Amino acid sequence: MSAAQPLRGARVFCVANQKGGVGKTTTTVNLAAGLAKVGQRVLMIDLDPQGNATMGCGIDKRKLALTVYDVLLESASIMEARVRSEKCGFDVLGANRELAGAEVELVEVERRDQRLKLAVSAVSSDYDFILIDCPPSLSMLTLNGLCCAHGVIVPMQCEYFALEGLTDLVNTIKQVHANMNKDLQIIGLLRVMFDPRITLQQQVSDQLKAHFGDKVFNTVIPRNVRLAEAPSYGLPGVVFDPAARGSIAYVDFAQEMVERIAKL
Ligand code: ATP
Ligand code: MG
Repeated sequence: MSAAQPLRGARVFCVANQKGGVGKTTTTVNLAAGLAKVGQRVLMIDLDPQGNATMGCGIDKRKLALTVYDVLLESASIMEARVRSEKCGFDVLGANRELAGAEVELVEVERRDQRLKLAVSAVSSDYDFILIDCPPSLSMLTLNGLCCAHGVIVPMQCEYFALEGLTDLVNTIKQVHANMNKDLQIIGLLRVMFDPRITLQQQVSDQLKAHFGDKVFNTVIPRNVRLAEAPSYGLPGVVFDPAARGSIAYVDFAQEMVERIAKL
């Protein structure tokens, strides 16, 4: 299949923000678990050499025979490299440190930004949702994610510098949209680690809504220690402690995503 053809089947979303530690991985694994909970067939792709999303679904990144690295270098298909997270109820295409080398190894390769899209198109009909956890950079890895996605989910903390970083991401998404992937759009901005008692967070949240309107998801993810504890048990919060406030919010968010994309 040519890389230029639109993907059929699954809706593909990147969880991206080049700022580090803003809740991308927490959002990816919990949204995946939330979607699985409401009956969706999900593949989660870890596109970060840190491999946090892989570990956060109970998959030991050090023991993986095949990862997204092999897929990007075309030495394996997703069908061969994916593994099932039984506890979480979805499939995982994992990553580990090896992936850090892909950037350099892809330099010589033709259409290197389309590698993931080509691979994803072969399994797209197996899933309703494919979620991609991006690294904290606007690198070739992130570009591969953006080139194969229908949309981007941007988790952000409502802090002073949050809006500043957003400009670079929005510009990158615009460029990818214009030159490489007409399907790509920002699906929404997700307010995470939110503490309503902090006035500044309320103010930034209001600014976000004033500036981006409907693009801000209605669901707000609270700061909740259970979400931070869950990865050490190899589980998303949604699976680890379904009754925690943060977990309930992520299941609400999964529902909001299902409704939002039905309108696209
Ligand atoms: P990186 O840029 O390094 O990939 P990231 O954007 O993926 O980071 P996470 O790893 O998801 O960010 O989150 C950063 C830290 O914040 C983690 O320790 C995580 O457990 C914690 N965290 C994320 N969301 C919440 C939340 N809603 N409440 C409390 N802690 C959270
Ligand atoms: Mg991460």
